[in-house]
Amino acid sequence: MKWSVDIKGTLSPLSILGAFFQKPNTIPYPAVKKETAKGYRGFHTNFLADCIGCASCQDVCMNNAIDMIKTDKEYNAKNASQCIPRIDYGRCCWCSLCTDVCPPDSLKLEDDYMNVSKHASDFLYMPKNKGQR
Ligand code: SF4
Ligand code: SF4
Repeated sequence: MKWSVDIKGTLSPLSILGAFFQKPNTIPYPAVKKETAKGYRGFHTNFLADCIGCASCQDVCMNNAIDMIKTDKEYNAKNASQCIPRIDYGRCCWCSLCTDVCPPDSLKLEDDYMNVSKHASDFLYMPKNKGQR
């Protein structure tokens, strides 16, 4: 019986060493963030100088994700109810209907979307007060 060495079969597993010199196929998040698409629907923002506390956003939300609540913030004189919307991100599907119906256009969706927490209460989210004018 004649023995032969399978050179190709022996060396082929070593070809994986070439992977050390390849560029990674993933991005090193969170050090590097991928730019979000224009019009991306992330967290809500609410320009409190314009919000009139009308609750139209709450009324239109099909997921019951919005509660109108009182906080210790100072509201503008046009806000008759002295309440502002709080979003439940356990329910929200980012359909953006609430921003579409907002009469003064104070409620918006921004491109920030990262919210990691082990506390369920952290998903009851007060929109950041961000102006758009
Ligand atoms: S965010 Fe807009 S729709 Fe909601 S209460 Fe304020 S003004 Fe009304
Ligand atoms: S984006 Fe849609 S689901 Fe989320 S709070 Fe607004 S209306 Fe409700």
